[in-house]
Amino acid sequence: MRKPFLALGAVSLSLCFVLQTPMIIKAQTQTDLLDSDEFFQRASRTAPQRDYTQRIEDLLKRMTLEEKVGQMTQLATGMVTSGRNQDVRIDPAKLDKAIVKYGVGSILNVDQALTLDTWHQIISQIQEAATKKTRLGIPVIYGIDTIHGANFVQGATLFPQEIGMAATFNPELMKRATEIAAVETRAAGIPWSFSPVLDLGRNPLWPRFWETFGEDPYLAKVMGVAFVRGLEGNDVSSQQQVASSLKHYMGYSFPLTGRDRTPAWIPENYLREYFLPTFAAAVKAGARTVMVNSGEINGVPGHINHHILIDILRNELGFKGFVVSDWEDIKKLVTPWRVAANEKEATRLAVMAGIDMSMVPLDYSFADHLVALVKEGAVPQSRIDEAVRRILLVKFELGLFEKPMPDASLKAKFGLPESRQVSLQAARESITLLKNSNNVLPLAKTTKVLVTGPTADSLISLNNGWTYVWQGSEESLYPKDRPTIRKAIEAKVGANNVTFVQGTRIVRAPGSPSNSTPTDQEEEVDIPAAVQAARNVDAIVLALGEGSYCETPGNITDLTIGEPQMKLAEALKATGKPIVLVLVEGRPRIINRIADNASAILMAYNPSHEGGTAIADVLFGDVNPSGKLPFTYPRTPNGLINYDHKPFETENTAFGNMAFNPQFQFGDGLSYTTFTYSDLRLGKQTISMNEELPVSVTVTNSGPRAGKEAVLVYVSDLVASISPPGKRLRRFAKISLEPGKSRTLTFKLRAEDLSFIGADNKPVVEPGEFDVKIGNLTQRFTLK
Ligand code: BGC
Repeated sequence: MRKPFLALGAVSLSLCFVLQTPMIIKAQTQTDLLDSDEFFQRASRTAPQRDYTQRIEDLLKRMTLEEKVGQMTQLATGMVTSGRNQDVRIDPAKLDKAIVKYGVGSILNVDQALTLDTWHQIISQIQEAATKKTRLGIPVIYGIDTIHGANFVQGATLFPQEIGMAATFNPELMKRATEIAAVETRAAGIPWSFSPVLDLGRNPLWPRFWETFGEDPYLAKVMGVAFVRGLEGNDVSSQQQVASSLKHYMGYSFPLTGRDRTPAWIPENYLREYFLPTFAAAVKAGARTVMVNSGEINGVPGHINHHILIDILRNELGFKGFVVSDWEDIKKLVTPWRVAANEKEATRLAVMAGIDMSMVPLDYSFADHLVALVKEGAVPQSRIDEAVRRILLVKFELGLFEKPMPDASLKAKFGLPESRQVSLQAARESITLLKNSNNVLPLAKTTKVLVTGPTADSLISLNNGWTYVWQGSEESLYPKDRPTIRKAIEAKVGANNVTFVQGTRIVRAPGSPSNSTPTDQEEEVDIPAAVQAARNVDAIVLALGEGSYCETPGNITDLTIGEPQMKLAEALKATGKPIVLVLVEGRPRIINRIADNASAILMAYNPSHEGGTAIADVLFGDVNPSGKLPFTYPRTPNGLINYDHKPFETENTAFGNMAFNPQFQFGDGLSYTTFTYSDLRLGKQTISMNEELPVSVTVTNSGPRAGKEAVLVYVSDLVASISPPGKRLRRFAKISLEPGKSRTLTFKLRAEDLSFIGADNKPVVEPGEFDVKIGNLTQRFTLK
């Protein structure tokens, strides 16, 4: 077992969630996003920072080697506490050893979500020891995985996971969500979050796919900057903000096998083309810390990759914050990576490659080895000073020296109804309508429905991992007042119009997950009962998908959706009743065999606690869907090809074999109205390198009802020295339109939107012809 993990059903939840009557939440009007580039440029601008050099140098002069190495050490909570789960409390002897004897600079994580009060007790005692009992009184920086809201604080507002946020194509909403996540994390006394995940979801087998913003580097870059800006704000010392950690730098998400933490082969030009832009943009937007790729690329584990950590991150991107390792990853250089013969050598390699802080996190080995290495001259003192300077800088910027203690007044900003509305809005905007034959949706509220399937009555599936516990799997910790899909439909159309039959179940394998065993198993429950019930209804809402999983335990051997789910879908088809398939899943499980059985298909991703309500809103027409797929949905297990593939992969030429034939395309997403695109105009037919190219297009709501539309602007380079992708997303907008209304949008393309990474690993813009594509329209221009 890699991490402390709560065994199934071991603990019952104390009554920490205030039960509320269901809220009536009105649709919110939000300002439209007219140009992703305008948002991106604005969000990337950082306010001038205070200069802490003097204070840092003063401290550094007074620090012993041991104190410096202590600052570079990060331990798990269990190293200063005893008791587990809700019984966790500070253990004075352990605290003394960690904070006073070793001068440890950072603590992380917790087994399961704690109340604000418990967090306050724990953090206060840690800070009390650090600031009052140590010689120099340097506060600790506590770090936590605030992944989709403050998910380790009981009662926090949770949001759709990143993959769903990407589908909103609404970075303003992303920023608003992480502003709330920041204040709710700080409310617990925690100033540092291990997020956002900026790895690209280009391989849907990867079990952390749902933690990403999908497959496109531009969309992920804009959403990532929004995420960072929401967490850090313009003044990260404010009690409303926290420091971010960009992870997992870089190339972690693209292992050859799709299995977590297995080798990736990514040549540097493609590394820079696809995997670097999200990190580069977030560093420019001021992100304070970076967490390292826990896998290896091209045979070099992330934690000794000097080129990536020093040459690129520090020297090229000018990153000024600190680099933290991932969990136990210095130890792993010995086993499993086998690039160091022993832990001491591993410590030397990692620190010299640019790791400033080690998430050790379960013993004192790192500190002991590093002190010895410096004394022997194997690691220069200057390298230690450099790391400590960076760590102290972030601590100063966070205001920890002035205010190390949790701020009780922040409780007033925690778990507010208006925050929950933002989550609902995000869930609504994420839901993606992929199929709607004969306009079977929206359903009339008088429809008699059968609700069935393994994700129909499960908050666990709506949330996925990083929810109260690492794997998101503890039913007892979930609030009782958040509706599942079933409950939300009952609330909307009345329980007497709804029949619920479980159909099949996704169960967790007994015991704790290990790194090598998949945690979910599926079983048939009562398929014949579902079929029987279907005969008496007008329509079937069939909710399929996945349970919860995270990291290595989420590895799968087959992307195909579970066989019991297939059987349920096929049995229901035989009744002839219309099937509305709702997919609640963190990655696109193959549904080819049953997709034709469904009249409508709704992709919900992992929309979190308001997801049930949002799905019911869309099913019954209270909300017009506006999400678009942020990845390519494969039709077959081997058909894993991204949208920005090479044209010869789709052309039926001697080389092509119609390989690109996905179930659904990147950017797919229907509405209950129709949007028509017209008048795609380019400001010029020919531009030179330094010129901007104005691109305008008119979008008309030509259907019967108001709706929102994400407008996606693609550019194709027709001929290039590195075989060019068919098209690349370069801009987007998200606008609302009343029926019959039009809006003309204008974007400006610059040379960088036409560039790519050449064979020499440097950006290049090559003259020639390019196409701009929006909707079904294309215009060509020439770059001189
Ligand atoms: C994950 C990180 C996470 C860290 C701390 C690691 O296993 O890869 O994403 O931030 O644990 O929980």
